[in-house]
Amino acid sequence: MPSHTATSIAEWDWRYRVGFDSACRHRVRSAIETLQDPRERVLMEQIYDWATSFVSLHALLQTIVADGGALRAGNSVGAADAESLERLVEETDSAAILWLPAELHELVDELLEKLPIALRDAVTTLADRARRSVPRVPPHARLFEITFGEALDGLLRQDEACGEIPSLPRGRPVPSRDLVGYVERFLRRSLSDPRLRELFGEWTPPAIATVVTDGPGFGEYWPTEIARRRPSHDELIVYSNRDSRNVHSLRTTLHHELYPGHALFYDSARRSKQFVDHGATTLVEGWATWCEWHAAHDAASRFARCSRLRLHRFFAFDDAAAIAGRFTNEVILQGFSKSRARQLALHYFQYPGLLFSYSLGARWFEDLFERISPARFLTFLSERSWGDFFRLWSL
Ligand SMILES: [Zn+2]
Repeated sequence: MPSHTATSIAEWDWRYRVGFDSACRHRVRSAIETLQDPRERVLMEQIYDWATSFVSLHALLQTIVADGGALRAGNSVGAADAESLERLVEETDSAAILWLPAELHELVDELLEKLPIALRDAVTTLADRARRSVPRVPPHARLFEITFGEALDGLLRQDEACGEIPSLPRGRPVPSRDLVGYVERFLRRSLSDPRLRELFGEWTPPAIATVVTDGPGFGEYWPTEIARRRPSHDELIVYSNRDSRNVHSLRTTLHHELYPGHALFYDSARRSKQFVDHGATTLVEGWATWCEWHAAHDAASRFARCSRLRLHRFFAFDDAAAIAGRFTNEVILQGFSKSRARQLALHYFQYPGLLFSYSLGARWFEDLFERISPARFLTFLSERSWGDFFRLWSL
Protein backbone atom coordinates (compact mmCIF):
# COMPACT_ATOMS: atom_id res chain seq x y z
CA MET A 1 0.00 0.00 0.00
CA PRO A 2 1.15 3.56 -0.60
CA SER A 3 3.13 5.02 2.27
CA HIS A 4 2.83 8.64 1.19
CA THR A 5 0.26 10.73 2.93
CA ALA A 6 0.51 13.73 0.63
CA THR A 7 -2.27 14.86 -1.70
CA SER A 8 -2.42 13.11 -5.02
CA ILE A 9 -4.41 13.22 -8.22
CA ALA A 10 -5.43 9.59 -8.55
CA GLU A 11 -6.70 9.81 -12.14
CA TRP A 12 -4.21 8.99 -14.86
CA ASP A 13 -6.45 10.54 -17.53
CA TRP A 14 -7.55 13.78 -15.86
CA ARG A 15 -6.01 15.86 -18.64
CA TYR A 16 -8.46 14.30 -21.08
CA ARG A 17 -11.46 14.50 -18.76
CA VAL A 18 -11.41 17.97 -17.24
CA GLY A 19 -12.74 19.37 -20.53
CA PHE A 20 -16.14 17.73 -19.94
CA ASP A 21 -16.22 16.35 -16.40
CA SER A 22 -16.99 19.00 -13.76
CA ALA A 23 -16.44 16.64 -10.81
CA CYS A 24 -12.98 15.74 -12.11
CA ARG A 25 -12.24 19.46 -12.65
CA HIS A 26 -13.08 20.13 -9.03
CA ARG A 27 -10.89 17.31 -7.69
CA VAL A 28 -7.92 18.37 -9.76
CA ARG A 29 -8.25 22.06 -8.84
CA SER A 30 -8.42 21.21 -5.12
CA ALA A 31 -5.31 19.05 -5.40
CA ILE A 32 -3.39 21.79 -7.24
CA GLU A 33 -4.20 24.23 -4.42
CA THR A 34 -2.35 22.02 -1.93
CA LEU A 35 0.96 22.40 -3.79
CA GLN A 36 3.43 24.16 -1.49
CA ASP A 37 5.95 25.21 -4.11
CA PRO A 38 4.55 28.19 -6.07
CA ARG A 39 6.54 27.29 -9.18
CA GLU A 40 4.99 23.82 -9.26
CA ARG A 41 1.56 25.33 -8.69
CA VAL A 42 1.96 27.70 -11.65
CA LEU A 43 3.05 24.82 -13.91
CA MET A 44 0.11 22.68 -12.85
CA GLU A 45 -2.30 25.59 -13.40
CA GLN A 46 -0.94 26.06 -16.91
CA ILE A 47 -1.42 22.37 -17.69
CA TYR A 48 -4.91 22.49 -16.18
CA ASP A 49 -5.87 25.55 -18.27
CA TRP A 50 -4.53 23.83 -21.36
CA ALA A 51 -6.50 20.65 -20.62
CA THR A 52 -9.78 22.50 -20.03
CA SER A 53 -9.50 24.18 -23.44
CA PHE A 54 -10.57 21.09 -25.42
CA VAL A 55 -13.08 18.24 -25.35
CA SER A 56 -12.08 14.79 -26.56
CA LEU A 57 -15.08 12.91 -27.88
CA HIS A 58 -13.38 9.55 -27.48
CA ALA A 59 -12.41 10.27 -23.86
CA LEU A 60 -15.99 11.36 -23.19
CA LEU A 61 -17.40 8.15 -24.67
CA GLN A 62 -14.88 6.01 -22.81
CA THR A 63 -15.83 7.71 -19.58
CA ILE A 64 -19.53 7.10 -20.04
CA VAL A 65 -19.29 3.63 -21.49
CA ALA A 66 -17.18 1.30 -19.41
CA ASP A 67 -16.85 -2.42 -19.00
CA GLY A 68 -19.04 -3.70 -21.80
CA GLY A 69 -21.54 -0.86 -21.98
CA ALA A 70 -22.55 -0.43 -18.35
CA LEU A 71 -23.13 3.13 -17.28
CA ARG A 72 -20.73 4.06 -14.56
CA ALA A 73 -22.05 5.54 -11.34
CA GLY A 74 -23.05 9.16 -11.92
CA ASN A 75 -21.16 10.50 -8.93
CA SER A 76 -17.74 9.77 -10.33
CA VAL A 77 -18.50 10.83 -13.89
CA GLY A 78 -19.56 14.43 -14.22
CA ALA A 79 -20.91 14.06 -17.74
CA ALA A 80 -22.76 10.77 -17.51
CA ASP A 81 -26.31 12.05 -17.16
CA ALA A 82 -28.55 13.60 -19.78
CA GLU A 83 -28.68 17.03 -18.14
CA SER A 84 -24.89 17.42 -17.89
CA LEU A 85 -24.56 16.30 -21.48
CA GLU A 86 -27.11 18.84 -22.71
CA ARG A 87 -25.13 21.52 -20.92
CA LEU A 88 -21.94 20.26 -22.49
CA VAL A 89 -23.54 20.47 -25.95
CA GLU A 90 -24.47 24.11 -25.26
CA GLU A 91 -21.03 25.03 -23.94
CA THR A 92 -18.87 23.13 -26.42
CA ASP A 93 -18.50 24.74 -29.80
CA SER A 94 -16.68 23.32 -32.77
CA ALA A 95 -13.51 25.15 -31.72
CA ALA A 96 -13.27 23.26 -28.44
CA ILE A 97 -14.18 19.79 -29.64
CA LEU A 98 -11.22 17.93 -31.11
CA TRP A 99 -11.50 17.05 -34.80
CA LEU A 100 -12.19 13.40 -35.59
CA PRO A 101 -10.58 12.13 -38.84
CA ALA A 102 -12.42 9.56 -40.97
CA GLU A 103 -9.97 6.82 -39.91
CA LEU A 104 -11.37 7.04 -36.38
CA HIS A 105 -15.11 7.20 -37.13
CA GLU A 106 -15.55 3.47 -36.73
CA LEU A 107 -13.94 3.44 -33.28
CA VAL A 108 -16.29 6.16 -32.11
CA ASP A 109 -19.36 4.56 -33.71
CA GLU A 110 -18.67 1.33 -31.81
CA LEU A 111 -18.82 3.27 -28.54
CA LEU A 112 -21.86 5.33 -29.58
CA GLU A 113 -23.82 2.12 -30.05
CA LYS A 114 -23.16 1.13 -26.46
CA LEU A 115 -24.61 4.35 -25.03
CA PRO A 116 -27.88 4.26 -23.13
CA ILE A 117 -30.67 5.71 -25.36
CA ALA A 118 -31.22 8.69 -23.05
CA LEU A 119 -27.69 9.93 -23.66
CA ARG A 120 -27.40 9.14 -27.34
CA ASP A 121 -28.86 12.34 -28.85
CA ALA A 122 -26.59 14.73 -27.01
CA VAL A 123 -23.46 12.71 -27.70
CA THR A 124 -24.39 12.25 -31.36
CA THR A 125 -24.63 16.04 -31.71
CA LEU A 126 -21.13 16.36 -30.30
CA ALA A 127 -19.89 13.55 -32.54
CA ASP A 128 -21.28 15.33 -35.62
CA ARG A 129 -19.45 18.48 -34.61
CA ALA A 130 -16.22 16.55 -34.12
CA ARG A 131 -16.52 14.96 -37.57
CA ARG A 132 -17.44 18.14 -39.41
CA SER A 133 -15.17 20.67 -37.76
CA VAL A 134 -12.21 22.05 -39.68
CA PRO A 135 -9.32 19.54 -39.63
CA ARG A 136 -6.96 20.74 -36.94
CA VAL A 137 -3.77 19.43 -35.40
CA PRO A 138 -4.42 18.89 -31.67
CA PRO A 139 -2.76 21.32 -29.24
CA HIS A 140 0.06 19.01 -28.14
CA ALA A 141 2.84 21.54 -28.80
CA ARG A 142 1.57 23.91 -26.12
CA LEU A 143 1.65 21.16 -23.48
CA PHE A 144 5.32 20.44 -24.10
CA GLU A 145 6.27 24.11 -24.16
CA ILE A 146 4.83 24.26 -20.63
CA THR A 147 6.49 21.03 -19.55
CA PHE A 148 9.99 21.44 -20.99
CA GLY A 149 10.38 25.14 -21.75
CA GLU A 150 13.48 25.82 -23.82
CA ALA A 151 14.66 22.21 -23.74
CA LEU A 152 11.84 21.15 -26.09
CA ASP A 153 13.59 22.03 -29.37
CA GLY A 154 16.59 19.89 -28.48
CA LEU A 155 14.41 16.93 -27.52
CA LEU A 156 12.58 17.08 -30.84
CA ARG A 157 15.77 17.32 -32.90
CA GLN A 158 17.12 13.83 -32.18
CA ASP A 159 15.47 12.18 -35.14
CA GLU A 160 18.48 11.86 -37.51
CA ALA A 161 19.80 8.56 -36.14
CA CYS A 162 16.49 7.00 -37.11
CA GLY A 163 16.17 8.19 -40.70
CA GLU A 164 15.28 4.84 -42.27
CA ILE A 165 11.94 3.22 -41.55
CA PRO A 166 12.91 0.55 -39.03
CA SER A 167 11.33 -2.86 -39.21
CA LEU A 168 10.18 -4.96 -36.32
CA PRO A 169 12.58 -7.89 -35.77
CA ARG A 170 10.79 -11.11 -36.56
CA GLY A 171 10.58 -13.50 -33.66
CA ARG A 172 8.67 -16.57 -32.67
CA PRO A 173 5.27 -15.80 -31.16
CA VAL A 174 4.98 -16.72 -27.49
CA PRO A 175 1.88 -18.94 -27.14
CA SER A 176 -0.98 -17.27 -25.29
CA ARG A 177 -1.04 -20.03 -22.66
CA ASP A 178 2.63 -19.40 -21.83
CA LEU A 179 2.41 -15.63 -21.35
CA VAL A 180 2.14 -15.71 -17.54
CA GLY A 181 5.09 -18.13 -17.34
CA TYR A 182 7.09 -15.91 -19.69
CA VAL A 183 6.46 -12.89 -17.44
CA GLU A 184 7.72 -14.81 -14.39
CA ARG A 185 10.86 -15.98 -16.18
CA PHE A 186 11.48 -12.48 -17.52
CA LEU A 187 11.29 -10.97 -14.04
CA ARG A 188 13.62 -13.55 -12.51
CA ARG A 189 16.18 -13.02 -15.27
CA SER A 190 15.97 -9.23 -15.13
CA LEU A 191 16.31 -9.00 -11.37
CA SER A 192 19.54 -10.97 -11.49
CA ASP A 193 21.00 -9.12 -14.47
CA PRO A 194 24.18 -7.41 -13.16
CA ARG A 195 23.96 -4.53 -15.66
CA LEU A 196 20.39 -3.66 -14.60
CA ARG A 197 21.37 -3.96 -10.96
CA GLU A 198 24.12 -1.45 -11.47
CA LEU A 199 21.75 1.01 -13.13
CA PHE A 200 18.82 0.64 -10.75
CA GLY A 201 20.51 -0.27 -7.50
CA GLU A 202 18.31 -1.85 -4.91
CA TRP A 203 15.03 -0.50 -6.30
CA THR A 204 12.70 -3.40 -7.00
CA PRO A 205 9.14 -3.77 -8.23
CA PRO A 206 6.31 -4.49 -5.78
CA ALA A 207 4.21 -7.70 -5.79
CA ILE A 208 2.18 -7.91 -8.98
CA ALA A 209 -0.75 -9.91 -10.34
CA THR A 210 -0.46 -10.75 -14.06
CA VAL A 211 -3.60 -10.90 -16.20
CA VAL A 212 -3.60 -12.08 -19.83
CA THR A 213 -6.44 -10.88 -22.04
CA ASP A 214 -7.38 -10.53 -25.72
CA GLY A 215 -7.48 -7.11 -27.32
CA PRO A 216 -5.35 -4.57 -29.16
CA GLY A 217 -2.24 -3.06 -27.58
CA PHE A 218 0.70 -4.58 -25.73
CA GLY A 219 0.43 -4.20 -21.99
CA GLU A 220 -0.81 -1.97 -19.21
CA TYR A 221 0.34 -1.45 -15.67
CA TRP A 222 -2.28 -0.52 -13.08
CA PRO A 223 -0.98 0.56 -9.70
CA THR A 224 -3.56 0.07 -6.96
CA GLU A 225 -3.90 3.84 -6.44
CA ILE A 226 -5.48 4.41 -9.86
CA ALA A 227 -7.01 1.01 -10.67
CA ARG A 228 -10.80 1.13 -10.90
CA ARG A 229 -11.43 -2.01 -8.91
CA ARG A 230 -9.00 -1.17 -6.08
CA PRO A 231 -7.28 -4.57 -6.18
CA SER A 232 -4.89 -5.61 -3.41
CA HIS A 233 -1.93 -5.84 -5.79
CA ASP A 234 -0.69 -3.79 -8.70
CA GLU A 235 -1.88 -5.40 -11.91
CA LEU A 236 0.05 -6.14 -15.09
CA ILE A 237 -2.22 -6.68 -18.07
CA VAL A 238 -0.67 -8.45 -21.05
CA TYR A 239 -2.68 -8.30 -24.27
CA SER A 240 -2.51 -11.35 -26.46
CA ASN A 241 -2.48 -10.52 -30.18
CA ARG A 242 -0.26 -10.75 -33.26
CA ASP A 243 1.77 -7.62 -32.38
CA SER A 244 2.23 -8.28 -28.70
CA ARG A 245 3.19 -11.98 -28.73
CA ASN A 246 6.22 -11.46 -30.97
CA VAL A 247 8.94 -12.43 -28.49
CA HIS A 248 10.94 -9.25 -29.20
CA SER A 249 7.95 -6.97 -28.67
CA LEU A 250 7.01 -8.86 -25.54
CA ARG A 251 10.44 -8.32 -24.00
CA THR A 252 10.40 -4.58 -24.67
CA THR A 253 6.80 -4.43 -23.40
CA LEU A 254 7.89 -6.02 -20.13
CA HIS A 255 10.87 -3.68 -19.78
CA HIS A 256 8.36 -0.86 -20.20
CA GLU A 257 5.53 -2.10 -18.01
CA LEU A 258 7.29 -4.10 -15.37
CA TYR A 259 11.01 -3.93 -14.81
CA PRO A 260 12.63 -1.45 -14.73
CA GLY A 261 9.60 0.44 -16.13
CA HIS A 262 6.32 1.33 -14.46
CA ALA A 263 6.41 -1.21 -11.60
CA LEU A 264 9.81 -0.11 -10.35
CA PHE A 265 8.94 3.55 -10.85
CA TYR A 266 5.83 3.31 -8.71
CA ASP A 267 7.99 2.25 -5.81
CA SER A 268 9.38 5.78 -5.92
CA ALA A 269 5.91 7.36 -5.88
CA ARG A 270 5.11 5.39 -2.77
CA ARG A 271 8.14 6.74 -0.98
CA SER A 272 7.23 10.32 -1.85
CA LYS A 273 6.01 12.42 1.06
CA GLN A 274 4.83 15.12 -1.29
CA PHE A 275 2.29 15.72 -4.01
CA VAL A 276 1.85 12.92 -6.58
CA ASP A 277 0.18 13.51 -9.95
CA HIS A 278 -0.69 10.10 -11.40
CA GLY A 279 -1.64 11.91 -14.63
CA ALA A 280 1.90 13.22 -15.19
CA THR A 281 2.08 11.31 -18.44
CA THR A 282 5.41 12.60 -19.65
CA LEU A 283 7.15 11.64 -16.41
CA VAL A 284 5.44 8.26 -16.08
CA GLU A 285 5.58 7.19 -19.74
CA GLY A 286 8.92 8.89 -20.40
CA TRP A 287 10.59 6.78 -17.71
CA ALA A 288 8.98 3.55 -18.91
CA THR A 289 9.88 4.30 -22.52
CA TRP A 290 13.50 5.02 -21.60
CA CYS A 291 13.52 1.55 -19.99
CA GLU A 292 12.02 0.05 -23.14
CA TRP A 293 14.81 1.60 -25.21
CA HIS A 294 17.79 1.03 -22.91
CA ALA A 295 17.19 -1.84 -20.47
CA ALA A 296 18.48 -4.14 -23.21
CA HIS A 297 20.83 -3.35 -26.07
CA ASP A 298 19.34 -5.36 -28.91
CA ALA A 299 17.56 -5.01 -32.24
CA ALA A 300 14.15 -4.89 -30.54
CA SER A 301 15.03 -1.97 -28.28
CA ARG A 302 16.65 -0.07 -31.18
CA PHE A 303 13.50 -0.70 -33.17
CA ALA A 304 11.30 0.50 -30.31
CA ARG A 305 13.32 3.73 -30.11
CA CYS A 306 13.41 4.47 -33.82
CA SER A 307 9.76 3.65 -34.42
CA ARG A 308 8.78 6.17 -31.74
CA LEU A 309 11.24 8.87 -32.74
CA ARG A 310 10.18 8.72 -36.38
CA LEU A 311 6.73 9.88 -35.30
CA HIS A 312 8.30 13.20 -34.23
CA ARG A 313 7.97 14.23 -37.85
CA PHE A 314 4.24 14.62 -37.16
CA PHE A 315 4.87 16.99 -34.24
CA ALA A 316 5.06 20.20 -36.24
CA PHE A 317 3.17 18.95 -39.29
CA ASP A 318 0.27 21.31 -39.97
CA ASP A 319 -1.78 19.38 -42.55
CA ALA A 320 -4.08 17.58 -40.13
CA ALA A 321 -6.13 15.99 -42.90
CA ALA A 322 -3.05 14.21 -44.29
CA ILE A 323 -1.69 12.97 -40.98
CA ALA A 324 -4.08 10.14 -40.17
CA GLY A 325 -3.39 8.34 -43.46
CA ARG A 326 0.37 8.86 -43.20
CA PHE A 327 0.32 7.53 -39.69
CA THR A 328 -1.33 4.34 -40.77
CA ASN A 329 1.17 3.82 -43.59
CA GLU A 330 4.17 4.53 -41.41
CA VAL A 331 3.09 2.17 -38.64
CA ILE A 332 2.16 -0.64 -41.04
CA LEU A 333 5.47 -0.26 -42.92
CA GLN A 334 7.19 -0.74 -39.56
CA GLY A 335 5.55 -4.17 -39.40
CA PHE A 336 2.64 -3.53 -37.05
CA SER A 337 -1.01 -4.35 -37.63
CA LYS A 338 -3.68 -1.93 -38.81
CA SER A 339 -5.24 -1.92 -35.37
CA ARG A 340 -1.95 -0.71 -33.84
CA ALA A 341 -1.84 2.07 -36.45
CA ARG A 342 -5.36 3.12 -35.57
CA GLN A 343 -4.54 3.15 -31.88
CA LEU A 344 -1.62 5.54 -32.44
CA ALA A 345 -3.82 7.80 -34.60
CA LEU A 346 -6.40 7.79 -31.82
CA HIS A 347 -3.76 8.92 -29.34
CA TYR A 348 -2.61 11.64 -31.69
CA PHE A 349 -6.01 13.15 -32.45
CA GLN A 350 -8.10 12.56 -29.35
CA TYR A 351 -5.55 12.56 -26.50
CA PRO A 352 -3.35 15.60 -27.21
CA GLY A 353 0.20 15.10 -26.02
CA LEU A 354 -0.19 11.44 -25.14
CA LEU A 355 1.67 10.05 -28.17
CA PHE A 356 4.66 12.37 -27.72
CA SER A 357 4.77 12.04 -23.93
CA TYR A 358 6.44 8.66 -24.36
CA SER A 359 9.23 9.73 -26.68
CA LEU A 360 9.86 13.28 -25.43
CA GLY A 361 9.98 12.11 -21.82
CA ALA A 362 12.35 9.28 -22.79
CA ARG A 363 14.56 11.72 -24.72
CA TRP A 364 14.80 13.91 -21.62
CA PHE A 365 15.86 10.88 -19.55
CA GLU A 366 18.44 9.92 -22.19
CA ASP A 367 20.14 13.28 -21.71
CA LEU A 368 19.89 13.06 -17.92
CA PHE A 369 21.28 9.52 -17.67
CA GLU A 370 24.41 10.61 -19.53
CA ARG A 371 25.20 12.45 -16.30
CA ILE A 372 23.61 10.50 -13.44
CA SER A 373 22.28 6.99 -12.86
CA PRO A 374 18.56 6.11 -12.99
CA ALA A 375 18.81 4.99 -9.35
CA ARG A 376 19.93 8.50 -8.35
CA PHE A 377 17.01 10.04 -10.17
CA LEU A 378 14.59 7.76 -8.28
CA THR A 379 16.08 8.94 -4.98
CA PHE A 380 15.86 12.56 -6.15
CA LEU A 381 12.21 12.09 -7.13
CA SER A 382 11.22 10.37 -3.90
CA GLU A 383 12.05 13.64 -2.09
CA ARG A 384 10.01 15.80 -4.43
CA SER A 385 6.57 16.34 -5.88
CA TRP A 386 5.83 13.85 -8.60
CA GLY A 387 4.62 15.64 -11.72
CA ASP A 388 5.63 16.86 -15.16
CA PHE A 389 7.95 19.40 -13.55
CA PHE A 390 10.94 18.81 -15.85
CA ARG A 391 11.70 22.48 -16.39
CA LEU A 392 12.01 23.04 -12.64
CA TRP A 393 14.48 20.23 -11.99
CA SER A 394 18.22 20.62 -11.99
CA LEU A 395 20.29 17.52 -11.45
ZN1 LIG B 1 3.36 2.94 -20.16
